[in-house]
Amino acid sequence: MGHFWRVCLLAVAVPLLVGPGSFCLASEKVQAQPEPESHTKTYFSKSRQEFAVHYRYGSEAGPTLLIVAGIHGDEAGGYLAAERYTHINPVKGNLIVVPRLNRAAINARRRHGLGGDMNRLFNLPASSRNPDIRVVNLVKQLIRQSDYVLNLHQGYDFYNPRWISKTRNPTKWGQCNVIDTATYHLPSGRKLELGQYATQVVHRANRSIENGDYHFEVNNTNTAVKWTRHREQRGSLTYYSLYNQQKIAVGLEVTKNCSLAEAVSYLTIAINAAIEEAGIQVDSLPSESVQAMAHLAEAKVKPISRAKRKG
Ligand SMILES: [Zn+2]
Repeated sequence: MGHFWRVCLLAVAVPLLVGPGSFCLASEKVQAQPEPESHTKTYFSKSRQEFAVHYRYGSEAGPTLLIVAGIHGDEAGGYLAAERYTHINPVKGNLIVVPRLNRAAINARRRHGLGGDMNRLFNLPASSRNPDIRVVNLVKQLIRQSDYVLNLHQGYDFYNPRWISKTRNPTKWGQCNVIDTATYHLPSGRKLELGQYATQVVHRANRSIENGDYHFEVNNTNTAVKWTRHREQRGSLTYYSLYNQQKIAVGLEVTKNCSLAEAVSYLTIAINAAIEEAGIQVDSLPSESVQAMAHLAEAKVKPISRAKRKG
């Protein structure tokens, strides 16, 4: 549950619990709650699965956006981009940032961690014997605290809903916002308009990208329907976020067909757009220019093998 909804629920539930007549007392109690302080917490310290979570709270109530990166260890653009948000100060709303989720995979510069492809483990039960299940279970708790979820990735070539060429077609993952469905119907009758949100994020991002070859597209994988080509995505973090916790979840994919600095720049553009479209205000967003990423020496990251082509 996001901060905004937690505050609303508390404001409604506390007076109800203590009964009429004590409303003022209850309100004072609510007001006495200290503002949550931004902080960083490390989980599974000194193990091969150690990772940090950066909780960044705004003073004004608003939605909470969770940014997860490094679920695949061979997609350096994702975790380098996410690390640029670990000290952001929100004014309205909150950010929860997990830059390097799959530590074992990142250290090995491989897609898979200790328990295989972590982005296929989110449909396992909490009691599963997969070695990565404790990491997955913790992320599920973070998703519960959020309203929006971003999972950052890097893949080869360019997604396009139509077949343009061998490197630009519906089977590719680069430069797209991945959603599992356009509209999700909540039991209450309300709808989560993921398609609308992803489209607005794409439009906002593309305004900052001069070269049209690198414009983002919305990639609706229609994961739940029988005829989907992406059945495997039913184990993904974003699919779990939407179908189990009813959160607006988007996979942000940038291409590997560019320099690392450019990839981080494209991801920064997409994340900034997602933050703004979610209605979260921060004191200052990271720079989107490639020059700002010039310090990212390519040598810092081992050359990415072209053998792995998944996003
Ligand atoms: Zn990936």
